[in-house]
Amino acid sequence: MEKFKAIINNQEIESNSWLDIMDPTTDEVYAQVSALSAQEIDSAFKAAKAAQKKWEAIGIEKRTEFLIRWRDLLLKNEEDLATTMMHEIAKAYKDCLTEVRRTAEYIDLTISEYNDLQVLTFDKNSKGVTEDIVAEYKRIAKGVGVGISPFNYPINLAVSKLAPGLLTGNTFVFKPATQGSVVGIKIGQLAIEAGIPAGVLNVVTGRGRDIGDVIVTNPLIDFISFTGSVPVGRRLMEISSSKDLVLELGGKDAAILLDEHNLENIAKDIVAGAFSYSGQRCTAIKRVITTDNIADKITPLIKAEVAKLTVGLPNENPIITPMIDKKSADFVTDLINDAVKKGATLVYGGTRDKNLLQPTLLDNVTVEMNVAWEEPFGPVLPIIRINEIEDMISVANKSNFGLQTSIYSKDVDLAYKVAEQLEVGTVNINRRTQRGPDVLPFLGVKDSGFGVQGIKETILSTTRYRGIIIKK
Ligand code: NAD
Repeated sequence: MEKFKAIINNQEIESNSWLDIMDPTTDEVYAQVSALSAQEIDSAFKAAKAAQKKWEAIGIEKRTEFLIRWRDLLLKNEEDLATTMMHEIAKAYKDCLTEVRRTAEYIDLTISEYNDLQVLTFDKNSKGVTEDIVAEYKRIAKGVGVGISPFNYPINLAVSKLAPGLLTGNTFVFKPATQGSVVGIKIGQLAIEAGIPAGVLNVVTGRGRDIGDVIVTNPLIDFISFTGSVPVGRRLMEISSSKDLVLELGGKDAAILLDEHNLENIAKDIVAGAFSYSGQRCTAIKRVITTDNIADKITPLIKAEVAKLTVGLPNENPIITPMIDKKSADFVTDLINDAVKKGATLVYGGTRDKNLLQPTLLDNVTVEMNVAWEEPFGPVLPIIRINEIEDMISVANKSNFGLQTSIYSKDVDLAYKVAEQLEVGTVNINRRTQRGPDVLPFLGVKDSGFGVQGIKETILSTTRYRGIIIKK
C-alpha cells in the first residue's frame, strides 16, 4: 500500500504516525498519509511565515509563471489525479477529470481577474479631496493563510483557495480533508515540480478532529479560508486565532415550484440538481417545496427521472456512487427511516448495499421530519407540500441554512419578488441550484457561511489595501 508524506518547506515529512485513507467503494484501506504532530504543524507555519516576504517580493510576473506551470502540470497529470480522486472519494471518473480541467480554467481566470484589478488613486482633483496630495491604494498580500478543504471537490476547492492567494503573494498551510489527502499531497508535489519556493505551500495531513484545533489556533495565521460542515465551521469561529475568516458551509437548498409550467423539464433539472455525485454537493437541491396540485403532477415525473439514474462504481461513470463513508450513509438511512416512520411516502429507493444507497424520493414530507431540515449530503430528495406562497417562503426561510434556492415559474416577475424575500446567498430562477461560473460571487448566509468566494472575491479576501499618501 502506498504511503504519502505531508509536505513542509518543500520536504516530505518523515512522520511517525500514519492515517488510513479508505476507498469508499470497498471500505478497505487505499493508502496512508502522514498523521502530523502539533509540533510538525507548527513547523509548517514557521516555514510559511519565513517564506512569505520573499514570495511577495519576487513579483507578480514570477508568481504568474509559477501558476501557469502548475496549471499545465495539473492537466498533464489529469488522469493520475482523477484516478486518485476516484479511489479516495468514490466520484465518477469522468467527473473527476472534469474537476481537474475546471480547476485549470480557474487558474487561468484567476490570472486574468488579477490583471483587471485596479489600483485606487486620488489627488486634489478627486471628489472630496481638498488637500494637495497624491494617494495610492494598492492591494497587497495579507501574509500566511490557512486553507482547509472538504472531501467532495478535493482539487477544485483546494486550488480555488490557493491559486488566488498564492498569486497575490501569500503563503499557505493547506489541510485537505482526510478523504482527499492523497490528491491534496499530489497537488502539493506538482507545485514543487512547477518551481514553487520552499515554504510557500505546505500540505499538512492528519485527522481534522485531531489536528484541526492546532491548525486554526496558530499565532502566525493572518487569514483562514475554510469549506466544510457547519459544526466544524462554528468551532473554528469560536477558537481561531485569526478574525479574518471566510467560511463556506453546508446548505439545504430548496427548489420552489410556483406553477405547472414545463414540469417535465423541471423534473429533469431537479433530479440532476439533487442527485449528481450522490447528492454530496453543497448546492445540491435538498428539498422540493410545492403545492399539492403541482406535487401530484411532478412527483411521478421526478420518480421516472430518478429511476433512470445510473447506480454503480465510480469507474463505471454512474451518477450514484457509494457515499463517502459508513457514518454518512448511516446518517442518510436514519433520515429516510425517520421520515417513513412519521408518515412520509417512500416513492422510490430506500435500499442500500454497504455505502451505496439507491437514490431515494420521499413525498408528503412534513416539517416534523428531520429530513425537512437536515443536510443529508446523500442521495435523498424530500417533497414538502405547501399550498400558499407565503408559507413556502416561510418554510424555506425557517432553515438554519442559507446557501441557494431555485424558483421555477413561468412568471419571472413573481419569481423575482419571491427571490427578494429568501434568506439565501443566491437565488436561481428557472435553473437548478449550483456553483455556476467561477467568476460569480459565491456565498452562504445564516449557517451556510461567512464571507464570499469567487475568483475576484478570493483575490480581495487574500489581500488588503496598503495606502501611501504623498503630500505635494
Ligand atoms: P467537514 O466539516 O467534516 O470537513 C471539512 C474539513 O475540515 C476537512 O479538511 C476536515 O479534515 C477539517 N476538519 C475537521 N474537523 C476539524 C476541526 N476541528 N478543525 C479544523 N478543521 C477540521 O466537511 P466534509 O464532510 O469534508 O464536507 C461536507 C460539508 O462541506 C457539507 O456540509 C457541505 O455542504 C460543505 N461544503 C460546502 C461548500 C460551500 O462552498 N458552501 C462546498 C463544499 C462542501
